[in-house]
Amino acid sequence: MGTLNCWNWKNCGRYPGGPKVNEFGVCPATTETQADGFLNGRAAGRGCAYVAGTFCGGKIQGSAQDKTHDCIKCDYYKALKSEFGSALSAIQFNKYLNKPNKKITKKNQRWVAASKSARQTMIAAKANYNK
Ligand code: SF4
Repeated sequence: MGTLNCWNWKNCGRYPGGPKVNEFGVCPATTETQADGFLNGRAAGRGCAYVAGTFCGGKIQGSAQDKTHDCIKCDYYKALKSEFGSALSAIQFNKYLNKPNKKITKKNQRWVAASKSARQTMIAAKANYNK
């Protein structure tokens, strides 16, 4: 899965400074810093299924419960599930939110890959799950 987070996989542009933040603002999955490091992701980039009010599919989603039927059909969710199995669950996510001493992503880290090679790496990682 490398360094992929949901906004990379979905190319949604709804992360801070992203091209689509003027539509609804910044997606709550990118600002949930308590989730930083969950499944080696940034913010809730690997726990977006458990964050209420995300902007997936270009619409403001409801509670984590309301979103479940959409998230389980999501190709990103399926890729995470195939890689992390039972570590990807609402229980584990909520446990992680309350965990002390978490790895915090450096503030100046880019939200999306800058270099062509890094973008290609992400596309390849994604393709790997769509075989
Ligand atoms: S949860 Fe938010 S940041 Fe993640 S892909 Fe969906 S819209 Fe983008």
